[in-house]
Amino acid sequence: MSYRIGQGIDFHKLVEGREFWLGGILIPHNKGALGHSDADVLLHAICDAMLGALSLGDIGKHFPDTDAAYKNIDSKVLLKRCYDLVHEKGYTLVNIDSTILLQAPKIRPHVEQMQRTIAQILDISFEDVSIKATTTEHLSFIGREEGIVATANVLLQKI
Ligand SMILES: [Zn+2]
Repeated sequence: MSYRIGQGIDFHKLVEGREFWLGGILIPHNKGALGHSDADVLLHAICDAMLGALSLGDIGKHFPDTDAAYKNIDSKVLLKRCYDLVHEKGYTLVNIDSTILLQAPKIRPHVEQMQRTIAQILDISFEDVSIKATTTEHLSFIGREEGIVATANVLLQKI
């Protein structure tokens, strides 16, 4: 049995006047992440982890932010395309473990819906999509609510 491991990390600025998309769902908040796409930091980290596991580069290589085709694109579409690349290489996803770093709002009430949304796109059980969240105890740009970070690790298995 052949396995590949991958990791991804993504950062976005938080600003007023943007919808806050995270883990594929819309979360009510007074700020949202700034970016060319919907700026879903968790989905981008998972994309990078899957691409990284197969040495396929990163999300910026596959979906350049200079390309108008990706302006305001739903990151769930990008996630599905990354998973298609995984399949084309003959691999399937075993599990994801991720962490979101942000000061506010509280993420725990939304975690199950994120897990189910991601699991449905990637054709795995929601129990195989781990999503953790931590504040930085008001330290740094994250603690000042200026930005959000997500990290993800994935394990792929050869079909
Ligand atoms: Zn991003």
